[in-house]
Amino acid sequence: MTLEPIPVPRQRAYPPRVSAFTQPFWEGLSQGRWQSTCCQACGKFTFPPKKVCPHCWSEDMVWKDLSARGTLYSWTRIHAAPKVFAEESPYAVCVVDLDIGLRIATRMVEREGVDFQPGIPMELVVLQYEDGPLFASRPA
Ligand SMILES: [Zn+2]
Repeated sequence: MTLEPIPVPRQRAYPPRVSAFTQPFWEGLSQGRWQSTCCQACGKFTFPPKKVCPHCWSEDMVWKDLSARGTLYSWTRIHAAPKVFAEESPYAVCVVDLDIGLRIATRMVEREGVDFQPGIPMELVVLQYEDGPLFASRPA
């Protein structure tokens, strides 16, 4: 499943620090791939990507493509944003329970006419800023 790209005509306000380890994630995200690490010993996924499994401490981790679908756990709209994000406010953020068992916090792309209630289906998308990607979610 490829994440839909949404162009954003500005630079990221707080770009991620990309390391040699996280580079595959950011390169994949720029191409619409949603991936993270999975433990070969216990089979559990982790996000953000990790070198060591937080469940069983195995170092046998591999990159895998993940389902980008889930349900809304909670959300809020930010009106008094931190200075670095002030230009983008108001904006919504949410917590999504992904189908693969991960709970992640993301920016939320709102849709008019959608009643944001916990449990509605959500999907991840890629916000393609001028200087690189960030992931976000929106109602599916
Ligand atoms: Zn494990």
